Amino acid sequence: MTDTDQSEFGRFFLPGPTEVRPEVLRAMTRPMIGHRGAEMSALLREVDGPLRAVFRTTRPVYVASSSATGLMEGAIRNGVRRRALSLVNGAFSARFRDLVPDCGREVETYEVPWGEAHDPGELLRHLRAGGFDAVTVVHSDTSTGVLNPLRDLAEAVRAAERETGEEILLLVDGVTSVGGALVEMDEWGLDFLLTGSQKALALPPGLAFGAASPRMLRRAESIPARGQYFDLVEFEAQWAKHQTPNTPALSLIYALVEQMRRIREEGVEARVARHREMAERCWEWVETEGARRGLSVLAPEGLRSPTHTAIVLPEHLKGPRVTAALGERGWTIAAGYGKLKDSTIRIGHMGDHTRAELDALLVELEEVLG
Ligand SMILES: *Cc1c(COP(=O)(O)O)cnc(C)c1O
Repeated sequence: MTDTDQSEFGRFFLPGPTEVRPEVLRAMTRPMIGHRGAEMSALLREVDGPLRAVFRTTRPVYVASSSATGLMEGAIRNGVRRRALSLVNGAFSARFRDLVPDCGREVETYEVPWGEAHDPGELLRHLRAGGFDAVTVVHSDTSTGVLNPLRDLAEAVRAAERETGEEILLLVDGVTSVGGALVEMDEWGLDFLLTGSQKALALPPGLAFGAASPRMLRRAESIPARGQYFDLVEFEAQWAKHQTPNTPALSLIYALVEQMRRIREEGVEARVARHREMAERCWEWVETEGARRGLSVLAPEGLRSPTHTAIVLPEHLKGPRVTAALGERGWTIAAGYGKLKDSTIRIGHMGDHTRAELDALLVELEEVLG
């Protein structure tokens, strides 16, 4: 890694994968070790506490070698017995929903338009019909920048449990919230919370992290056909020894150990505050400099994710053209996702970025927009 590479940190603002610090990348070049030995357990023991701190839980956080979608599938296989209600308001929540029938379970959808959040009262009304044993929800859908009111949605699920007398597990994709927002797994009563390495944790892609409530584990035990690769009962048993069910992506574990040291040093709450500051700066820019050029924030005020912003473009501008123009100047942001590809651009202000780096990006964006 040369000095030039390091001085250029701060130009890559995709909402995943996010930019990775050179020292974290360097950690991956360490030689291999046996994955069943004491050395391996020591590495996983070291990240155990910091991961629980990020997930705001006293439960262990399992480390899976897959992208986040792997643990989304694991959530369904271990958490849905027969029928789920899926909350859809963007591309990733639609994927979570589609995984339910893909895993042979029934699904019903509570959908709101992309760019909107779900309503706790409406969720309760859906659940009152009965017959649901799980709910899937994406906290921060990375196609729209909307932050769902997760604490209130969790409260609605608990209320539905009391009314129907049925156990309804809440399965949460926190891929672009965990590590960049305070996602209170224990306090809010989430039954399964998952994220991936390449978003707010600012690691390379390839690891997924998930924590299960005790009743999620009991549910998993009661489902014989829960598959093998993402069998949470096995993850739990192995984690007690600080091991993983299969050969882990060892080089990524080295990066994880390094990054968890850095996150522990910064502090989870300080990390969240840094994300908040970047997000507020981004929204303020869109509403002043951006508004003069016809731009607006897609997500409504009060329901915006602190990790990334989807910005609506005026009719004459196309997302891919804006990202290409920035690319020629050496800066990376994302075009819109799915059906918002042309009409929006997305800035990932998450991971290890700072307010100063974001300011520099916004200056470039102003020049590109003219
Ligand atoms: C990126 C992302 C995913 C999928 O992650 P992969 O690691 O690509 O499988 C799922 N949900 C959300 C909200 C995401 O941002």
